[in-house]
Amino acid sequence: MLPVQIIGAGVAGLALARALRLRGVHAQVHERAPHLRAEGGVLTLWSNGVGALGALGIDPLRDRRAIHLERATLWSSRGERLADIPVGDLGRRLGSPSVVVRRSELLALLAEGLPPEDLTLGVTVDALRHTDLGAEVRFTAGSVASGRAVVGADGLHSVVRSCLVGEEPPRAANQDCWLGVVQGDPGDGPPEGTTFGVVGQGRRFWLANAGRGELHWYAIVGGERRSAARDQGSLAEAFHRWPHGAEALILATPAESLRVVALHDRAPLHRWSEGCVTLAGDAAHACTPDLGQGACQSLESALVLAEALAEERSVPEALRRYELQRRTRAHLVQSLSRMVSDGSMPEDPVRCALRDLSCRLTPAARWVAALEPLLAPSGAPG
Ligand SMILES: Cc1cc2nc3c(=O)[nH]c(=O)nc-3n(C[C@H](O)[C@H](O)[C@H](O)COP(=O)(O)OP(=O)(O)OC[C@H]3O[C@@H](n4cnc5c(N)ncnc54)[C@H](O)[C@@H]3O)c2cc1C
Repeated sequence: MLPVQIIGAGVAGLALARALRLRGVHAQVHERAPHLRAEGGVLTLWSNGVGALGALGIDPLRDRRAIHLERATLWSSRGERLADIPVGDLGRRLGSPSVVVRRSELLALLAEGLPPEDLTLGVTVDALRHTDLGAEVRFTAGSVASGRAVVGADGLHSVVRSCLVGEEPPRAANQDCWLGVVQGDPGDGPPEGTTFGVVGQGRRFWLANAGRGELHWYAIVGGERRSAARDQGSLAEAFHRWPHGAEALILATPAESLRVVALHDRAPLHRWSEGCVTLAGDAAHACTPDLGQGACQSLESALVLAEALAEERSVPEALRRYELQRRTRAHLVQSLSRMVSDGSMPEDPVRCALRDLSCRLTPAARWVAALEPLLAPSGAPG
């Protein structure tokens, strides 16, 4: 039987390959980059993402490959504490913790179970063809790979998606996200196991202690502030006098570990598959990073897709089942993420004051109740 051809060795592609392997289905992964992605800072994997990793036989807390997240705290730019969410307690109730993990570590964990001959690096897919036996992808170098199914796990700018539904640029969030990592003492930064989010006018800052003396931060600037924050110095100025040493951390970041990403998402797509070809991860359901759910949703999709491909005799039937099981939740996460992206850092000072007040008046139990359905691993209550 032909293998499943997976395009892209990000979270979605590697998780799918691993999930298929666990079910005895042969898959081959093709990745454009010459190595698995090492940059990209840290990710929060909430209970649903960690639950999905567990179903792949991966415990990210073993050997301290990830840090157990106990508390997520939210602050105003004036330094008031707005919320303190007991993420650890919620994880214990849901039966699966939340963690902070380096992206490179997560990819390494997912790739560990795969035979090296089934992962080809440095090859770019540029075309797709439906065949009698399934589908075929063509690489820029001219070779082809045939599969009983082809899965586009090739991210936000997915070529497979363009082949299925036509060229359509991702939606801009009108925000730049700067990422940096600083080695050293956390000072008044978060202790291990706690994240600090800070919200202000048209800006946000997020800080996590990833262990091994590494502090990872994100600084998000929106609207017109993006052109003002054009380099490390002007970005630091935008966070002058913010709590937890935001300005100093930005300035202390070595240039080689500073990156900036223009944030994008995709509008919910109502059809992910055609014939024996489908999409997974950001190629299917890219969201802004505001809820920290993109990778978690990619893991959830990988599991459901692998199960459908392993159980259904007909590939188109399997892909239909996968879409039916995953689409509503993935679309909800896309829409909620976009709502937070659009609404969480207004420029207007009155709206900012109202945001801060409503966060401060929301008891921890209400935050937990709101997060629980989103974070519940498949099969867990919620
Ligand atoms: C700033 C930021 C912070 C984030 N924080 C979080 C978080 O805390 N928690 C969370 O769950 N999610 C988070 N996310 C979202 C998360 O990073 C993505 O949802 C996730 O990486 C999607 O994985 P993927 O495998 O679908 O895509 P990708 O990770 O983009 O992988 C796609 C792969 O396909 C390869 N590829 C592309 N085109 C081709 C081609 N033509 N041929 C061959 N290979 C190709 C690429 O090189 C890449 O390796 C964040 C995102 C951003 C931008």
